[in-house]
Amino acid sequence: MKTCITTNKVLTDDFVEFKCPGCGERIARSLDARRRSLEYKCKSCGFAGA
Ligand SMILES: [Zn+2]
Repeated sequence: MKTCITTNKVLTDDFVEFKCPGCGERIARSLDARRRSLEYKCKSCGFAGA
């Protein structure tokens, strides 16, 4: 099950998946978090972005 890296909510269909700019790990993020430019942090390498 995918969860949003920012909000930890379970993701169903309103999310985006991309690779971490730091380490290439797949990151899933809700569109809501992206729209609001909430900060996220990669669990693997600690890269932080918004
Ligand atoms: Zn990373």
